[in-house]
Parts: sequence; structure tokens; C-alpha cells
Amino acid sequence: MNTKPKGFSYVKTNFNYISYYKDGKWDEGTLREDDKITISGLSTSLHYGQECFEGLKAYRRKDGKVQLFRVEDNAKRFQMSCEHMVMPAIPIDVFIDAVKKVVKANESFVPAYGNKDTLYIRPFMIGIGDNLGLKPASEYIFSIIVSPVGPYFSGPVKPVDMLVSEYDRAAPNGTGHVKVGGNYAASLYARLSAKKSGYADCIFLDPRTHTKIEEVGVANFIGITKDGKYITPKSPSILDSITNRSLKWLAINELKIDVIEGDIYIDQLNDIAEAGACGTAAVITPIGSITNGNVKHVFPASEVIGETIKKLYDLMTGIQFGDIEDPNHWVTIL
Ligand SMILES: *Cc1c(COP(=O)(O)O)cnc(C)c1O
Repeated sequence: MNTKPKGFSYVKTNFNYISYYKDGKWDEGTLREDDKITISGLSTSLHYGQECFEGLKAYRRKDGKVQLFRVEDNAKRFQMSCEHMVMPAIPIDVFIDAVKKVVKANESFVPAYGNKDTLYIRPFMIGIGDNLGLKPASEYIFSIIVSPVGPYFSGPVKPVDMLVSEYDRAAPNGTGHVKVGGNYAASLYARLSAKKSGYADCIFLDPRTHTKIEEVGVANFIGITKDGKYITPKSPSILDSITNRSLKWLAINELKIDVIEGDIYIDQLNDIAEAGACGTAAVITPIGSITNGNVKHVFPASEVIGETIKKLYDLMTGIQFGDIEDPNHWVTIL
């Protein structure tokens, strides 16, 4: 069947996974066809943002098999997010099993090999039930919905322009490091403002001093310095991207270059030759320029994707689609 994805828009698939938490325990979890959820209008997820989610993909290999990339890492991060939102965490094996089940049930929706199309997997948890007062819910839904998606950017990846935002997506000791809807809600206005001004997205600076790069929209910032090192910011309010973790590993072990995790000051970008934003959806989006107030900084690699970032992109996607042998137990073939 192989439904053609519509960019990054939702295409309804045959099955989704749903599990309910009630009276202190999770039910068995089932696959169902209906993708609608009926919940109380007083659910904590609707009013108080008690929810979290994950994002990963299933990849069609050249041999026709389907594989997942670092699903255990998503399971662990989901547990951490659940705990931070005071929600009952899902055991790692239950999470992985549910992902496998829902992907297998939708096998025919995993796009064909060759165009970098994938099946996007969205696990999430929401607090439900009649809750007027502010407290953690006593009932929850854990669900996984999937949709075929195209590559985030179609055509050759040309470096994009970014605008430094005057807003913050997360507080210094807030929820920046957990994958929760609240961070996304907080980022919408800033991202939309940047897009209205003609930029691809916005850059969020550290919320305490507004001097250092933290995140690019909802992706991690990465750079390659002029002396060939991989650099990425470190901060308690950055989401620990699994793509970034993988790229760091590939930089060290495959490209044999150094990785620096530290401060990247917005007014000291001269050492950076190539810049990019990384995450599951787009893998790496090269960044050509960053505008901060009336200063526009143009990176040397601004017209075409830089050489090192391109190498990392090719390695990453090669492993994800099974063209390059899995170097570090990252892949699960279904
Ligand atoms: C999900 C997310 C990322 C990317 O993480 P991956 O695990 O690489 O997909 C980066 N930043 C934010 C804020 C995120 O929510």
C-alpha cells in the first residue's frame, strides 16, 4: 500500500496504542483503530499542562525490513519526563514493546526506502479525570500514534537564517530538560514571530543571562569550529537530544574530532565555521546566519551545507536507514 507522506502532516494509520492508568496501575494496553480520545474537560493535561511526549521514527531499510533507532533512549527519557510531571512512569520494556507493536500493526504505512520518508512515532502521556483543583491527576492515558512523514525539508538542504528571540522557552531551573508540552506552548509565540519576520526559526538564549545559545526552536544547536571541533552548548535548561548524543558519538568515534560541550556566546560566533540544528524530525538543519538585534552573523558555510555537518548527516541517516552498519547497538530491526 505504502501511503505517500504529506510532508510533516498527519496521515491517519490503521492502529494506535492506548493504555489507561487507574487505581494505581496500568491496564494491559491495546491497539485500536479509532484515533480519537474522549476525556474529562477537567483533565489536568488540558488545564495544567500535565503531559509529556516523545518523538522517534521507524525506517524502511533497502532489504525491506523496518528498524527503530535508539528506542531505549526514548523510553528512558520518557520515564524522566513522566517523573518530572509527577506521572506514573512506563517501564522501559513496556514502552519498547508498545512502540514495536504499533509499528508492526502499521507496517504498510512505513514509507518505501529511498526518499528519506519515515514513519514518525509519537508516544505521549496525559493526566485525565475530573480535577478542578491543582494536583496531579489520579488517572492517565499513555498512547502512541504514528504517521508517515516526509523529510522535514524537501530538496537539497540549504542553510537557513535564524533570529535570536527576546523570549525564553524555559526557566533556568524549570522544565527545559524534559520533553513536555509546556515548553512548546512557551515557544510558539517566539517561533511564530521569527517566522513572520522571514526567519526559519528562532534561537533561544540561556534564560539567566541572555548571552549564550541554548536551543534552536525545538532542536539542539551544534557547530563545527574553524579548527574542526564539534561544539554544542551545555545547560540544565536544554533538552538532551538523542540525535545530538549520536552526532557527538559519531564525531568522536568515526570522524575522530574533538567534542566540546560548553558555552557558546551569541556575540562570539567567529570561531564557528558550520552551524546547525539537530533533532529527530530534521536530523540536521544547517544554519547559514544568526541575526541578533541589528547584528547579522553569517557563518562561512552559509550557501551550502558545510563539509563536516554533511559527513555527520550522511553517517547518521546511513545508520538510521540501515545502509551503514550499526556501530553502537543503536538499531532494533523489527
Ligand atoms: C525533542 C527535542 C529535541 C530533539 O531531541 P531528539 O531526541 O534528537 O529528537 C531538541 N530540543 C527540544 C526542545 C526537544 O523537545
